[in-house]
Amino acid sequence: MTSTIAKIYIDNLRHNLNLIRSKINKNAKMCVAVKADAYGHGAVECAKVALECGAEYLAIARVCEGVELRNAGITAKLLMLSLANPQEMEELVRTEITPLVFDSEYAELVAEAAKKAGKAEYAVHLAVDTGMGRIGCLPEEAGAVAKKITGLGLKFEGICTHFAAADSENPSDREYTEFQFKRFMEAVENVKKAGIDPGIRHCANSALTLDKPEYHLDMCRPGIIVYGYYPDTLDREYFARKGENIELKPVMALCTKVVAVRKFTEGRSISYGRTWTCGGETDIGVLPIGYADGLFRRFARAGGNSEDLKVAINGTEYPVRGRICMDQCMVDLGKDSAVERFTEAVIFGPEESGALQTAQKIADQTGTISYEVTCGVGKRVPRVFLTSLTR
Ligand SMILES: *Cc1c(COP(=O)(O)O)cnc(C)c1O
Repeated sequence: MTSTIAKIYIDNLRHNLNLIRSKINKNAKMCVAVKADAYGHGAVECAKVALECGAEYLAIARVCEGVELRNAGITAKLLMLSLANPQEMEELVRTEITPLVFDSEYAELVAEAAKKAGKAEYAVHLAVDTGMGRIGCLPEEAGAVAKKITGLGLKFEGICTHFAAADSENPSDREYTEFQFKRFMEAVENVKKAGIDPGIRHCANSALTLDKPEYHLDMCRPGIIVYGYYPDTLDREYFARKGENIELKPVMALCTKVVAVRKFTEGRSISYGRTWTCGGETDIGVLPIGYADGLFRRFARAGGNSEDLKVAINGTEYPVRGRICMDQCMVDLGKDSAVERFTEAVIFGPEESGALQTAQKIADQTGTISYEVTCGVGKRVPRVFLTSLTR
């Protein structure tokens, strides 16, 4: 096994999913977002666990993501949250992906492909833009688009919207979320007025799944919380203040090994651009992990971050020195370090991985979100799936 790997703690994934399922209203379904390779965690494995834990839908963002799940034998419903192009339509239909539709042109493309494939009553969901400003029809248009959908022989299976600021405690964001929800309910009414059953009404992302049961309607679409991270400021303490114990466990640990320990003396510089120079004798550990693995340059001080990126080795944190390279970076182990060559070094992860920080900490330090940190873990990093039996 290569040194740089992403360990996926399946027990933690299962813990989060069971917790989420217990928070979702009994009569509402769970649609787990496994898009972007399950936020970097490995789509096929995570999808299987999600289905075991009661997911009825899986959310994807690309046709190829659906194909990957089907090739792995997954037969569950797949909801595609972004749009395909005409060249992909045949494969979308063949893969039995449920698309989001919101205009005539796109609905016609889906209907045509379904007809060609001999699939009658092909299921679609209507996307409504209630204020996200991404995809969807306006609530006023929902009735007409719904008629168009059924008129084309497609099955109107559900209706959905997406919120722009549901993970914020800010009063004006809260107001905006309420406004969006009201707009969504108007869209649902307009579909009913057009004589069409709106089917599965869904709008709740992670934040609203945990925070607002009244927004669950017929289905929730949790994503980031499945992988153990809180939606922005709606953290553990926030729920504790509401009297709820929501203990999410990070699922991924990004691990590598100290592949060399080298003695450095005063004045010797480290890495490209010579941004860091030894102030005295120190041991420098070389790690075979770089920005091509998802350890982005901006995570390190030399990449523009004002704080050192820390790496945990045997329960102690050590700072990364100099610029992160494509495939390697260097860590300061201090003078006469006891760290042995080929010892494991953990960048982030759950406690049990030996990590001393989570992806949230790195995100907070570098002006991004946990999503981007886990999604950024490179393609060449093997995902190693651990359960309590294999650990
Ligand atoms: C990604 C996505 C979700 C899940 O979002 P989280 O913030 O990770 O819960 C839900 N709905 C839509 C439309 C999405 O694009």
